[in-house]
Amino acid sequence: MTALATHPSLDEQVTGYATHEVMNQPGSLEDCDLYSGDKPLCDAVHVFGADWAVDRLKQTGILVGSAKVQHLARQANRHLPELRTHDRFGHRVDVVEFHPAYHELMGLIFGCEAHSFAWTHDRPGAHVARAALSYLWNQGENGICCPMGMTFASIPALMHAPALLSEWGPLINRPAYDPRPIYAKEKSGITVGMAMTEKQGGSDLRATMTTARAATARRGAGAPYLITGHKWFFSVPMSDLFLTLAQTEKGLSCFVATGWLPDGSRNRLKLQRLKDKCGNKSNASSEVEFYDLHAVMLGEEGRGIRTIIEMAHATRLDFAIGSSGLMRQTLSQAIHHTSNRRAFQRHLVDLPLMGNVIADLAVESEAMMWMSMRLARAVDGSEADKTEALLSRVATPVAKYWSCKRAPHFVAEALECHGGNGFIADHLMERLYREAPLNGIWEGTGNVICLDVLRSMQREPETVEVFLGEVTKARGANTRLDAFADDLVRRLKNPSGLEPLARRVVEMMALALQASLLVRHSSTAVADAFCATRLDGDWGHAFGTLPQGLDTQAIIDRARIG
Ligand SMILES: Cc1cc2nc3c(=O)[nH]c(=O)nc-3n(C[C@H](O)[C@H](O)[C@H](O)COP(=O)(O)OP(=O)(O)OC[C@H]3O[C@@H](n4cnc5c(N)ncnc54)[C@H](O)[C@@H]3O)c2cc1C
Repeated sequence: MTALATHPSLDEQVTGYATHEVMNQPGSLEDCDLYSGDKPLCDAVHVFGADWAVDRLKQTGILVGSAKVQHLARQANRHLPELRTHDRFGHRVDVVEFHPAYHELMGLIFGCEAHSFAWTHDRPGAHVARAALSYLWNQGENGICCPMGMTFASIPALMHAPALLSEWGPLINRPAYDPRPIYAKEKSGITVGMAMTEKQGGSDLRATMTTARAATARRGAGAPYLITGHKWFFSVPMSDLFLTLAQTEKGLSCFVATGWLPDGSRNRLKLQRLKDKCGNKSNASSEVEFYDLHAVMLGEEGRGIRTIIEMAHATRLDFAIGSSGLMRQTLSQAIHHTSNRRAFQRHLVDLPLMGNVIADLAVESEAMMWMSMRLARAVDGSEADKTEALLSRVATPVAKYWSCKRAPHFVAEALECHGGNGFIADHLMERLYREAPLNGIWEGTGNVICLDVLRSMQREPETVEVFLGEVTKARGANTRLDAFADDLVRRLKNPSGLEPLARRVVEMMALALQASLLVRHSSTAVADAFCATRLDGDWGHAFGTLPQGLDTQAIIDRARIG
C-alpha cells in the first residue's frame, strides 16, 4: 500500500508532480500594455509634444507587450539565421535563411512604422513618437531593431543627395517588410544596412582598404562605381539597399548599393560567413567580399565619412533609445518577479534591501528614458532652431555613451533580482543580458564616442553653451544639481586638454542633463533620489545603495507597469 502510494497517479503525471506542488513561481510578464502602463514614458511623450501619436503608441505598446511577440522573440533567437551560399544546383545565391518567427517580427516592426514614423509625419513631435516606438520595440526583440534602426537612420545620409533621396526615400518609408531576395524596386518594402568596418579596424575608417573605380566616364556624386574589397562586419546582409565606404583617387567616399540588381541577380558580393555572436542572435551579421559591386556615389567624393556620419549619428540616437528600452524591459521584469515571489513571508520587493535595489534601478531607467526622448525632441526641432541642432549634435553621443555604458551593469543587477531563474536560457533575461553590451560597441565604441563629444565641442564651441543652457534650465530647483553644473562649467572651459579625461567629462555631462530633465519633468521622489546619489555623496558602486530618507516606495510605484 505504502509502495503504491509513492507512484504518481495518471493525473499527477499529466498536471504536476507527485512530490510537490509548483509554488511561488511568478510566471511571465506578458499581455501588458507597455505604453499606457508606463507612466514615465507617457509623461515624456506628453512633455515633448507627441501626444497626437498616442493611438499608434498604444497599439504598439499592447502588441509588443503581448505573449505572441514574446513567443516569436523566443523562437527567432532559438532558431538562428543560416547562411546559404549556393543553391542545390551549385549556383551562388548568398542568402540568409531565417525562422518564420523572424519574418513575422520584421513584418510587425516595419508595419508599426518604427523605422519611418519620423519621416512620414511632418509635424513637431514626430521624432519623439518614433523614438517611443523604438523604445517599445527594444523591449520586444532586439535583433529586429538593428534593421529597423539602420533603415530609419539611412534617410539623413540620403539627404546629401536629393536625387537619391527621392529615388529611394518613398520606398524606404513604406510600412512594409518584404523578405524576397529580389531587386529593391520590385518590393513592397525594403531594409537598409551599412557596411563600414573592415578587418584592420572599424574605429579608424580612414584606414579603409576597399576601393572604388568609376564604371563609366562620369565621376563623383551620383555616378556609378564598381567596388572591390571586403567588410568584416555587415549586419543585415539581406538588406535591399546599403551604404558603404571605399577609397577613390580623392579619398574615402560613401556609396549606396542594392543587394540585388535590376536583372534579379545578386549584386557582386559574396557572403563569407555569418558571425557567431554573443547576443543579438536573431539578426544575421556577416563577413562579405565585394567584387565589382555596383554602387552609386552618395555625397561628395572624398567626403565619405562626413556623409555616412549622418547615418551613424541617427543610429547613435537609436542606440541610446534602444539601451534605454532594454533597461526598461529588464526593470519591468525585475519588478514583476520581485512583486510576485515571496521569501521570508514577504514579497521580495517589500524586503527593504530589495526595495532599495529596485528603486535604484528605476531611477536609473527613468533618467535614461528622459535623456533619449529629449534628444529625439532636439532632432525634431533641429531644422527650425539652431540651438536644438547643436544640442542634438553634442548630446546624442553623450547619451549613446552613457546609456550603453550603464546597460550591462544594469541588466546584470536586474537579472540577479530573479535569482537562479534569471540565469536560465528559458527566461528572456538571459537574452537581454547577452544583448546589453552590444550597443556600446557598434556605431562607435565608448572611447570613440567620448572623443566625438570632445570634437564637437572643439569644432563648434557654441555646443558647450547650448548644452550647459539645457542643464541650467533647472537652475535653482536643486542645490546639488546647481553645484554639479558649476563643476561641469569649470571642466568644460577648455575642451582641448580633455582627451585622457573624456570618459569622466562625458559621464558628468550625461548626469547633469539627466538630473536637469528629472528635476523639471519627473516626480520629486525620482529627481531627489537621482540628485542625492548620482550627483553627490552617499551612493555606492552597486545598484541598491540609495541612502536613507528617500521615498523608495513612490519610486517603485511610478516604475511599475500599470
Ligand atoms: C554584432 C555586431 C554587428 C556589427 N555590425 C556592423 C555593421 O553592420 N556594419 C559595420 O560597419 N560595422 C558593424 N559592426 C562593427 C562595429 O561597428 C565595430 O566593431 C566598431 O566600430 C569597433 O571597431 P573594431 O571592432 O574594429 O574595433 P577597434 O577600432 O579596433 O577598437 C578597439 C578598441 O580600441 C578603442 N579605440 C579605438 N580608437 C581609439 C582612440 N582614438 N582612443 C582610445 N581608444 C580607441 C575602441 O574604443 C575599442 O575599445 C558590428 C559589430 C558587432 C559586434
